[in-house]
Amino acid sequence: MSQGNACDICGGRHQDLLFMARDRLFGIEGEFPLVKCQECGLVYISPRPGFEEMGRFYPQEDYDLYNKAAGMTEKSMEELGRLQGPRKGRIDRYRTGGRLLDIGFGGGDFLRFMKECGWDVSGVDYNDRMVELASQELGIDARAGQLEDAGFDDASFDVVTLWGVLEHVQSPRETIAEIRRITADGALLVIYTQNAAAPEARLLGEDWFIYEAPRHLYSFDEHNLTRLLESEGFRVAEVVYETPLYYCQMNWQYLKERRLGRKGDVVHAPSVADRAAVKALSLYRRLVDGTPWSSAMTVFAVKGGAAARPGAAGAGETKEGSDAA
Ligand SMILES: [Zn+2]
Repeated sequence: MSQGNACDICGGRHQDLLFMARDRLFGIEGEFPLVKCQECGLVYISPRPGFEEMGRFYPQEDYDLYNKAAGMTEKSMEELGRLQGPRKGRIDRYRTGGRLLDIGFGGGDFLRFMKECGWDVSGVDYNDRMVELASQELGIDARAGQLEDAGFDDASFDVVTLWGVLEHVQSPRETIAEIRRITADGALLVIYTQNAAAPEARLLGEDWFIYEAPRHLYSFDEHNLTRLLESEGFRVAEVVYETPLYYCQMNWQYLKERRLGRKGDVVHAPSVADRAAVKALSLYRRLVDGTPWSSAMTVFAVKGGAAARPGAAGAGETKEGSDAA
């Protein structure tokens, strides 16, 4: 593995090859070595495709799979509230207003909802079209490209959110370092990402939907993500685990395709057999949902000092030696 990248979190150079990953979603040509750091367990693609090359992994004609641009202005606040309200609810326990930056805002639903709720919102996204739409339709400060190139002022945000974004960036460490620069002391950082420590990841291997190569360059677990955040001056206050139903559907889709050699759209046009299979997977989902065995996690971290940890249930463990309880 001498050609590969050092670990972005611990700098380790010793990795184990998990498997040669292929693009299961769009079928784009190529094989991508997925490795696991022997030191901190970070799972990542190595060697890593560069930022320019990543452009070809997001087919423009299929971009609506990722972003429902039209919905941004049509969606009613009620519908937005149903989808985005739970996210806001968790943030409210730390802060109920201020300057918020959403990194990788995609269709802009979260930004729109938070703006309507009185927050002063800004966004940054790779997609020029989405940035233009957000600027025009929402009248907000939306910038195109990577966060590191966006040039926001020092200490200009109270809350920064990344909903399914940190796994896509070139260097999570550089991204977190930049977030540190542009946030005020005591700012809240919210990261939603997949949980590579979920037993599903080991059991399903290359059929685990959320490895999502080559668009997901990284898969974290609570411990290595905490290590990264702490080393950049953030203190993890809470980790909330969940297993979305959509993951069950996609896991079954991939299992069916590769191991049974059968096609079909499980999410939009499930057969009777598909429904039964997803139901079975959902039983497992119900068992692990909310535990550290879940396939996704949301990490709440506070910049500097001691975190104001909310008393609510669902708080995850922090690193050994921390006084959080
Ligand atoms: Zn490492």
